[in-house]
Amino acid sequence: MSTPSPEHLNPDSRMQCRDHGIQRPTIICSHLQYGECLGFNVPDRLPAGPMAWLPMAWCDACDSVLREEGGWNDRSESFASPKMMCAACFEIIRQRNLPGDTVQKS
Ligand SMILES: [Zn+2]
Ligand SMILES: [Zn+2]
Repeated sequence: MSTPSPEHLNPDSRMQCRDHGIQRPTIICSHLQYGECLGFNVPDRLPAGPMAWLPMAWCDACDSVLREEGGWNDRSESFASPKMMCAACFEIIRQRNLPGDTVQKS
């Protein structure tokens, strides 16, 4: 697992997912990766700038750190420890972590 470097991604970037093949990249916090019902927070409004196209999500715990810190900085980022996920995994993780949703186990 390499650390994601969003600054090196662009809208044409693709990544190889072990389960889904070639996909668009997304960024999630490390907690969501294996978590269930942790909450699924996305940017309130699309951040202006070159990263606006990149889907991002983080759990409720990250969200409170984010609010305390007033945004992404070293502390909130090291707490979230963001991971790069393929767009299909992002959707699965979203379903699994949305509050109030029945967790579907296959
Ligand atoms: Zn988190
Ligand atoms: Zn995937």
